[in-house]
Amino acid sequence: SGYHKVLEENRKLYNQVQDLKGSIRVYCRVRPFLGEQSKYLSTVEHTEEGTITIITPSKYGKGHRSFNFNKVFGPSATQAEVFSDTQPLIRSVLDGYNVCIFAYGQTGSGKTYTMSGPTDLIEQNQGVNYRALGDLFLLAEQRKNTVSYDVCVQMIEIYNEQVRDLLIVDGVNKRLEIRNSSQTGLNVPDASLVRVTSTSDVIDLMNLGQKNRAVGATALNDRSSRSHSCLTVHVQGRDLTSGTILRGCMHLVDLAGSERVDKSEVTGERLKEAQHINKSLSALGDVISSLAQKNSHVPYRNSKLTQLLQDSLGGQAKTLMFVHISPELNAVGETISTLKFAERVATVELGAARVNK
Ligand code: ADP
Repeated sequence: SGYHKVLEENRKLYNQVQDLKGSIRVYCRVRPFLGEQSKYLSTVEHTEEGTITIITPSKYGKGHRSFNFNKVFGPSATQAEVFSDTQPLIRSVLDGYNVCIFAYGQTGSGKTYTMSGPTDLIEQNQGVNYRALGDLFLLAEQRKNTVSYDVCVQMIEIYNEQVRDLLIVDGVNKRLEIRNSSQTGLNVPDASLVRVTSTSDVIDLMNLGQKNRAVGATALNDRSSRSHSCLTVHVQGRDLTSGTILRGCMHLVDLAGSERVDKSEVTGERLKEAQHINKSLSALGDVISSLAQKNSHVPYRNSKLTQLLQDSLGGQAKTLMFVHISPELNAVGETISTLKFAERVATVELGAARVNK
């Protein structure tokens, strides 16, 4: 029976690890060279299923460094390919689970491209946000004889640890509080909550959100790269036979640029922004890695971002992070630190697999 006990323990452990594998996934996307740059040499040597190799010049310790992820999307990956693995997450939102999808990376590495897409809004270029909502409506429609769904969205921005509503039509944009409530699922109860029934509703709202986000910016101060924006989709389903209510929610987060700012070169407002970003991104990294390690204490309270997402990170929630890198030589320092961050948030399943050639 001792033997069986060990087997049982092993099985438990195995299941735990398997569960975890399903709950935190990290995908890496390499941005293509843009326009004129195409003749430059890439620092990304090759990509295959889940491995990426960075060629580092002597300044960074000349050599090759490889990193492993759940998947790597090379520079020619299409928006549809990048989205394809996300579909099971959409299903789980409709089943009453919480989901977080992040875009992480330095400014200019393609985060907004992945989440929203380019501004042309050609359907095949649409990003994860549109596709996720599109799939959600499609699945809800398929289930309409058994479950009736209500879909509402909120869109907020976190800038210098202050939360702002991005869906106000006019009026003063007051500072909002985060009040975690798993009962309603509304962690920012005072932010506009808008019911949507089609993808075109969503497109209108995202345009409004983007317009409001730009309000705080000036020509010299492209604020969008220094704030986190979060589109939250609240789904409520009522089972038509039993009357049971299911609530699921999905956060689609375009994070602030992760680049390190040289403290000797910036002062005032710019330094303050950099410190806030730094603090919240490391808080996010700490939360995810402590979840991955099954720590009993998860430090959600250390930033507005992690407070906001508290109900949707850990527990039964599923997390997907798209980590973005640029192929240019002059970005290699940031590329390596981005990949190290990503490796840290994926500790459990991937940490042991790292190869240093
Ligand atoms: P970030 O949000 O990380 O600051 P962007 O998404 O704005 O970066 O991307 C920077 C530029 O690169 C934009 O002009 C964008 O259209 C372009 N770009 C990013 N990713 C891709 C891609 N996969 N294919 C084509 N162009 C891309």
